[in-house]
Amino acid sequence: MFSITRINLHGQNTEFRKDKLTGLRCRINPSREERNLNHFIQPVTFTGSETCPFCPDNIEKMTPCFDNGKRIKTGESVTFPNSFPFGENHIVTVMTRKHYPGEITENQITDSLRGQYDGLYKKEDYNSINWNYLTSAGASMIHPHLQGFSGRVPTYLNSLYIEKSREYFQKKGKNYWQQLSESEKESERYLFGDEIVWCANPVPIGEKEIRGYLPICSFEEFREFIPEASAGIKKVIGIYQKAGNHAFNMSIRFGKSGHESYFRAHISMIARIDPNPMSFTDSAFMERLHFEPVIMTVPEMIRERYGR
Ligand SMILES: [Zn+2]
Repeated sequence: MFSITRINLHGQNTEFRKDKLTGLRCRINPSREERNLNHFIQPVTFTGSETCPFCPDNIEKMTPCFDNGKRIKTGESVTFPNSFPFGENHIVTVMTRKHYPGEITENQITDSLRGQYDGLYKKEDYNSINWNYLTSAGASMIHPHLQGFSGRVPTYLNSLYIEKSREYFQKKGKNYWQQLSESEKESERYLFGDEIVWCANPVPIGEKEIRGYLPICSFEEFREFIPEASAGIKKVIGIYQKAGNHAFNMSIRFGKSGHESYFRAHISMIARIDPNPMSFTDSAFMERLHFEPVIMTVPEMIRERYGR
C-alpha cells in the first residue's frame, strides 16, 4: 500500500515514501530533529549573531564544504552542501554577508542563482532552486539563503506538471506551457516581461502566486537566463512588499533535456502572511510549492516513543 526508498545522504538516512493509492509522497529525515526546531524558544535576531552559521565570521567554521574541500563563492554569496539534506545533491546558498539586509539587491539574487547553478553539479538530473524568505515562510534561518537540489526523481508537484504536460502533448500535439504563457500574456493577469513572461497564476497554489514562464526546459539552459530571472524575482518581491507581504516562498522548476516538446521551466512565487514577524512555521517550499512534506519523525517510532 506504500513504498519506501531509503537513501543515505551525507551519513543521514532519508526515506522517500509514497502512498500507492494516490501517489502522494513525503520525505523523512529523522536527523533534522537535531535542529531542535520543536523546542525553539529563542526569538529571531535581526542583527548579526555569534550563533548564526551563515554570518561572515562563522560561515567558514560552521558550514560544510563540497567534496573538493571548497565552497563556491560568487559575489558575496557562498554555496555549500546542506547539513540536513532531504534531497540528493542538496545545497544552500547564503545570499548576503549581512544577517538581515532588509532589502536584497538584484545583483545579490543574480550571484546567488549563479552559485546554485554551479553548485548543482548533476545538471542533467531533475533540479529545482528554492527560497523560503523569513521565518513565516518556513525559513529556520533569518539570514537570506537559497536551497537547491537535484535528484533522479522530480518532486511530487514537479512530477505531476511534467507527466500531465506529456499527456497534454500526446493528446493535442502542443506544448501546454508555451500556449499558457502566450495566452496569459494577453490576459489581465499579465504583469511584465517578454522573454520571461510574468503573470499571476489564474489558479494560485498560494497567496498571490506569480509565475515567471521561461522559454527553456532544462536546468542546463538556465545559466544565460539568470540575470533576467533575477530582475523578475526582484520585481515580484517589490509587488509583494507593496501589498504588505514580506515573507514568500519561491521555486524554480526544471524539466530535463528531451522534455522540450512538452515542458517549460518556470518560476513560482507565493506570498506568505506574516502578521507576526517572530512567527515560525513548518510549512515551507517543500510543503507549499512541491506538495511533498519533509517529516522528522518516522511513523513506526511514534508508538515506541510516545504511545505507551
Ligand atoms: Zn547570519
